[in-house]
Amino acid sequence: MSKTHFDYIIAGGGLSGLSLLYYISKEPALMNKSILVIDAVEKNQNDRTWCFWEKDQDFYEPLVYARWNRLKFESPTLNRTFALRDYAYKLIRSVDYYRFIKEAVSKVDVQYVTETIQSIVDSPQGASVKTNVSEYSSTLVFNSTGLFNPTLDPSNTLLQHFEGWFIRTNHAAFDSSVGTLMDFTLSQAKGITFMYILPTSAHEALVEYTLFSEALLEKEEYKKALSHYIEHNLKLNNYEITHTEFGVIPMSTAKFKPVAGKYSNIINIGTAGGYTKASTGYTFKFVHKKLKKIVSLLASGKKPDSTPSLREKMFHWYDMTLLDVLLSKKVGGEQIFTNLFKKNDPERVLAFLADESTHLDEFKIRNSVPLAPFAQSGIKQLFS
Ligand SMILES: Cc1cc2nc3c(=O)[nH]c(=O)nc-3n(C[C@H](O)[C@H](O)[C@H](O)COP(=O)(O)OP(=O)(O)OC[C@H]3O[C@@H](n4cnc5c(N)ncnc54)[C@H](O)[C@@H]3O)c2cc1C
Repeated sequence: MSKTHFDYIIAGGGLSGLSLLYYISKEPALMNKSILVIDAVEKNQNDRTWCFWEKDQDFYEPLVYARWNRLKFESPTLNRTFALRDYAYKLIRSVDYYRFIKEAVSKVDVQYVTETIQSIVDSPQGASVKTNVSEYSSTLVFNSTGLFNPTLDPSNTLLQHFEGWFIRTNHAAFDSSVGTLMDFTLSQAKGITFMYILPTSAHEALVEYTLFSEALLEKEEYKKALSHYIEHNLKLNNYEITHTEFGVIPMSTAKFKPVAGKYSNIINIGTAGGYTKASTGYTFKFVHKKLKKIVSLLASGKKPDSTPSLREKMFHWYDMTLLDVLLSKKVGGEQIFTNLFKKNDPERVLAFLADESTHLDEFKIRNSVPLAPFAQSGIKQLFS
């Protein structure tokens, strides 16, 4: 490839990089921009599944692989199945998403290279990206690699780590109308631990063993926990594992900066830009909300580094406070989530975790968790 200068470089072509490409391609003021997407891998595998809840439908609706209008929360003291009135809980396979976007943007001046990014340097004119193969420049670089991540350590970060198995049975074993968001009826000895079960049909389900803790487990431990749960809790002896996924998502109070570099020509997006809801790890919906804003700023000729609104700051503070309590271990995660789902309308808890709750919801949610540890963490995070 001879061309080395572009209007925009998208460094990292995963969820946020490709979503940004999609929104640029649909924006008349930007659709003629030349774009380079750099990723170390080709992104043609189903390397993860994204679950999220939303009220409306977006462009990715045809890609929704499964959806649930009823969810279940379980712990030693609560077993609650609830219907969703406004929201639907949805699952999208990443391979379908990557393929869809690459086809949808075929009319845009976009090039893809499979190279490893070594550095991104900001300058008064733009920014440049050095890879293991070449060097490229552009007016703006949108970065979703971890190159500018803050320092993460156990004092500010819990790791959300999980192994998921898609399993298939010969007989009808699942109720595909109910997804289990959290089953906390497991030992909490190794950290905040729950199972996540999403049946996609009567014969198939994703079962995911999830922990929030400082350190990862040995590979075998995830497998042992999953086999044990499937055999003893789901009472299945005969099943086939059709696909597996493993993931680690940082849940951190450290500041992921939206912009990097002295001249602000490097825009961090996705997890690298702080889009991950730190107390839950959910990212998918936030990527879409935030990128729509970025593209509308770009279209109006502004630098895409919008300052957060008061409401956004408030939700960030709630998020940091909840995570700080989890980090401090003053109250167990199982107890906090049980309280939230026991004492509130569960759908309003989902609205709260999606930054879409009302002041009244937030008042009720504040009253449903132990006051002292939350007040302490809230004050600490307010002044940090
Ligand atoms: C297994 C898994 C399951 C998840 N499930 C959910 C879910 O259900 N719901 C939810 O909301 N969130 C989920 N998440 C969290 C989050 O949505 C995903 O991590 C999401 O992919 C984040 O988007 P991103 O663009 O920030 O990062 P990514 O999608 O990871 O994209 C970053 C890209 O940068 C590339 N890259 C990194 N470093 C370099 C380099 N040096 N050179 C070149 N390329 C590089 C990577 O190859 C990658 O393609 C999950 C995460 C994982 C890991």
